[in-house]
Amino acid sequence: MNEVFIDLRSDTVTRPTPAMRRAMAEAEVGDDVYGEDPTVNRLEQRAAEIMGKEAALFVPTGTMGNTIAVKLHTRHGQEVICEARSHVFNYELSMMAWFSGCVPRPIQGEGGILTWERIRDEIRPLAPHYAPTGLIELENTHNMAGGAVYPTAVVDEICDRAHELGLAVHLDGARIFNAAAFLGQPVDRLAAKVDTVMFCLSKGLGAPAGSMLCGRAEAIDQARLYRKRLGGGMRQVGVLAAAGLIALEEHPRLLSCDHANARFLAEGLAAIPGIRVSPAVTNIVIIDVSATGFTSSELSARFKQKGVLVNGINARQMRLLTHYDVDRAACERALKAIREAVTSDTCARRETAET
Ligand SMILES: *Cc1c(COP(=O)(O)O)cnc(C)c1O
Repeated sequence: MNEVFIDLRSDTVTRPTPAMRRAMAEAEVGDDVYGEDPTVNRLEQRAAEIMGKEAALFVPTGTMGNTIAVKLHTRHGQEVICEARSHVFNYELSMMAWFSGCVPRPIQGEGGILTWERIRDEIRPLAPHYAPTGLIELENTHNMAGGAVYPTAVVDEICDRAHELGLAVHLDGARIFNAAAFLGQPVDRLAAKVDTVMFCLSKGLGAPAGSMLCGRAEAIDQARLYRKRLGGGMRQVGVLAAAGLIALEEHPRLLSCDHANARFLAEGLAAIPGIRVSPAVTNIVIIDVSATGFTSSELSARFKQKGVLVNGINARQMRLLTHYDVDRAACERALKAIREAVTSDTCARRETAET
C-alpha cells in the first residue's frame, strides 16, 4: 500500500524497521532443514527461554503453528474445543479437519473468554455416539472479541482441570505479548501451564514473517517433522529469523503504545454519531456502524477515499488495529477522516433511503 494511507486493517501490515533490514542483510545463515542455520537456532532458543518452554520451532505462519499443534495433541476423529469466534475455527480454512481429521466443538465464551465451567460441560467421553474430546484450544488475546485478554488464573484453572482428565491445552498466542503488556505479567507466566503455545512475530511485534511454536522438547521434535510435511521446511531462513529476533527482543516493550493509541481511537470513535464502540483493551478496536446508515463495505470505500484503510468484519462491524506503523498523529488524522466520512452527507443519504 502507498505510504499516504493510514493502514488500520491489521497489525500484520507493518514493514521491517531499518534495524531489521540491517540484521537481515547481515544474518549468518545455513540450511535450516539440516538444523544448520545459526540465526534460526538462536531465535528458537530465545523464544523457548522467553516463553518458559523446553523448545521452540520457527514456522512460516501462525496458521501452520496452530495446525501442527492440533496434530501433535490429537488423533483422527476427535473434537477440538475452541471458542466460537476463534481463529482456528473461523480463519484457518478448516485446517484441523484437513490435516488432523478433527472437528471443532466451538463454544461461546463471555466476551470471547472461555472458563473451565463452560468447557467442562462440552467435554465428550469415549461413548458409542460421541467423537471424544482430543484438545482444548484457547486464544489470548482473542482477535474477534476485540483483543480480549484471559485472566491468567482462568487459563491456569483450565489447564489444571484438563490435565487431570488427560487432555492437553494449546494456546493460540498470536498476540500473547499484547496480553502480557496489558496484564503487566511476563509471557512465560501467561503460558506456564499450557502444553503448547504459538505466537506471531509478524503481528504487533513487527517482523515481516514468522511465528513460533513452543512446548516440550519431544513435542517440538515431532512438530519439526509435521512442519516438513506441510511444506514448511525452509532453508537459509536466518534472513527472516534475524528480523524475528529483533521483534522478539526489542518490540514487546513497545506494545503498550499501541494499546494507548487504540484507547485513543476508541474514545474518538465513540464521539462520532452512529458509531458504537466495544471497549478497547489491547490493540484492537471493534465498532458497530449500523446506526451510521452505511454498511461496513460502503464505509471502507469512503474511508479509503480519505486515506484510511479499515476492513469490515461483516455488514455491521469493522475492526481497527493499531501497530508500530501508526503513531498518535496518524490516529488523530484517521479519526478526523472517519468523522468526515461518516457525517458529511448523512442527511443526503437519509433522503435517498426514504425515497
Ligand atoms: C493472525 C492470527 C493467527 C495466524 O495467522 P497467520 O496469518 O497464519 O500468521 C492465528 N491466530 C490468531 C488469533 C491470529 O490473529
